[in-house]
Amino acid sequence: MLTGNQEKVRKVNKSIVLNMLRLHAPISRAQVANLTGLNRGTVSNIVNVLIEEGLVFEDEQKGSGIGRPAISLGLRPDGGAVIGVEIGVDFIAVLLTNFVAEKIWNSRIQTDPSQSQTDIISQAERLIAQALFIASEQRLRPLGIGVGLPGLVNLHQGNLIMAPNLHWMNVPLRLMWNQRFHLPIYIENEANLAALGEYYFGSARNVDNFIYLSAGIGLGGGIMMGGKLFRGGHGYAGEIGHIQRDPAGEQCACGRIGCWETQVGPRAVFHRVKKELQNHSDQSLLVACSGDVDNLTFEMVVKFALEGNTLCRRAIEEVAVNLGMGIADMVHIFNPELVLIGGAFIQAKDILQPIIEKTIFSSILQPCADGLRIAFSERGADGCVLGAIAIVLDDILHEMVIT
Ligand SMILES: [Zn+2]
Repeated sequence: MLTGNQEKVRKVNKSIVLNMLRLHAPISRAQVANLTGLNRGTVSNIVNVLIEEGLVFEDEQKGSGIGRPAISLGLRPDGGAVIGVEIGVDFIAVLLTNFVAEKIWNSRIQTDPSQSQTDIISQAERLIAQALFIASEQRLRPLGIGVGLPGLVNLHQGNLIMAPNLHWMNVPLRLMWNQRFHLPIYIENEANLAALGEYYFGSARNVDNFIYLSAGIGLGGGIMMGGKLFRGGHGYAGEIGHIQRDPAGEQCACGRIGCWETQVGPRAVFHRVKKELQNHSDQSLLVACSGDVDNLTFEMVVKFALEGNTLCRRAIEEVAVNLGMGIADMVHIFNPELVLIGGAFIQAKDILQPIIEKTIFSSILQPCADGLRIAFSERGADGCVLGAIAIVLDDILHEMVIT
């Protein structure tokens, strides 16, 4: 019989092997042993258990070398189903994947922040139920549900503590959905999940120290340090959108004045465009929004700016400088290798990137600039739901309880 400690070691070794397969499959048992530093006997025992459990397969590969063909290992796509959910300020997105995070089904619906909390949550529940039905049709056992939320999430309690742009407070979502779906529920801040999604599947793959920034209606941040999300004591770390950068600035949805989020999101761009329009009329812009600036979308402003409209371009450039200055502060605090920018900002990448880079590199302490890259996400709107998939897999791959 294994002692508690031996049992723990066995679980850790199992997760190391699974994670190695996630990153490097197809690989052989010998390669797993080399890469992990575990001895070959241990690797073989673990692999046998994982094969029995339907999580790992082995396959004969005809190598080009001489000698007997190598048997390679991989994670089985049908090892289970994972559901990723994002409740955004004005949308719900759900993604169903198999055990290797390949998409089986997804859905994205628009919501209205003025809808009641109960309404929005039941819409999300209907989409999750649909995903579970599809998983059962494909005979995949559901392993868990990851959920990204636009606010402060208390990881110990599993509660959404506050979501300023939704005006939600203290929602015990983990408990609610645990009882409803009888599955492990992982709730997290959406930017944290997007950072995790980028680390697992996106532009930050294998970058252990990076900062992810994303603007939608709010401005969120996810901080990956040493290959782990930096969450702080309760999970509230990374609320970079609410760093006060202008004490005489505009009021933020959180109730405070001059948060970074008021300077750099799409709303900040609209605000500037509106202000400018009061001073200089711009016929083409007014025609495009039928005379009402509230009809403008961020996409339209970016399109106008790229086509040479100076008013729109100036608004985005000003935001770029504010973004760069805030990022420079974060670089001094965290010394990341990469700053990854996502969300609505991606659309304006061509204008933003050179200005952000210039602002950062001309203002930070020289040693902090060594090896620093500024990049834009390639995952676009999928970052958070992919992260929601990743957090479920991450937990399974790291702490799988196999008895
Ligand atoms: Zn704020």
